[in-house]
Amino acid sequence: GHVDRYAGRFAPSPTGPLHAGSLVAALASWLDARAACHGRGGRWLVRIEDVDTPRCSSEAAETILRQLAALHLLPDEPPLFQSQRTARYRQVLDQLIESHLAYPCSCTRKEIEQALIASGQSHERNSEHVYPGTCRGGLQGRPARAWRFHTTEFQHRLPDAINGEPALSSRGVHWTDRRLGAQFQDVAASVGDFVLLRADGVWAYQLAVVTDDADQEITHVVRGEDLSDNTPRQILLQKALGWATPKYLHTTLVRGVDGEKLSKQHGAPPIDISHPLAALCNAARALGLPVPDHVQQGNLSDALAFWTQVWMHLFD
Ligand code: GLU
Repeated sequence: GHVDRYAGRFAPSPTGPLHAGSLVAALASWLDARAACHGRGGRWLVRIEDVDTPRCSSEAAETILRQLAALHLLPDEPPLFQSQRTARYRQVLDQLIESHLAYPCSCTRKEIEQALIASGQSHERNSEHVYPGTCRGGLQGRPARAWRFHTTEFQHRLPDAINGEPALSSRGVHWTDRRLGAQFQDVAASVGDFVLLRADGVWAYQLAVVTDDADQEITHVVRGEDLSDNTPRQILLQKALGWATPKYLHTTLVRGVDGEKLSKQHGAPPIDISHPLAALCNAARALGLPVPDHVQQGNLSDALAFWTQVWMHLFD
């Protein structure tokens, strides 16, 4: 049955080593997989999201895998590398093109900005991210640079009422996060026709992540809250491709003293694997899990087993 197929994943981008913020997502997805199926456990996979090759390095990927091993967060299968999956992403784009759900775009960043200013939208919140649709009706002889998803058309093509979840309507995507509850986004209005293949030839995160989650038969996505507003785009792509939508859980973000999300760009230090238990205790605290003395002074396996038990009662 459904619960027996549980598969979760941790999908880091190897732009640097694991830090306190990314460890929270790793631990949460690991615990969720281990707690699944009433404690019998599900598959837990690691996917190295190295499509954005200029920013990624194989050294960082190796470091992350070494850090995870030192923390006893071991994947059940060898890790998947997105850099080896480009032929598959091409197939998926072709499928969308055949269904008239992807179109080529010749616009430069500057042309998009100018079009938004001309239409009087340039001061709207997030308007710089909403593509004005210039190439939607064809390239008019201009060269193709990127490929975009026909968000606007697809969202409007869908029926208004769908039983079960996630529901799509002409006004947007409704979905339920296991922690955040009911969510809604009008993708056409707030994101627009998003990019699938970038002008520099790099596969967009949205297309790669949806393809890999489907091919790896991921049933449960557990990741940081900063990614939750990508979920409606991913659900639209899943619907467009006829694929299942996993369940989603977005964890709390670890913030620095300045209130900013911890990130490599923000100078977060790497996890110190000479003190793996201390690092895991911090990640557990960030997730709101108890860290009693016996856990703090015990060993890694007992700590992980303890939090797995706690996790089983937190989320169904
Ligand atoms: N690679 C993405 C990141 O590190 C995460 C993707 C995901 O979990 O969906 O931000």
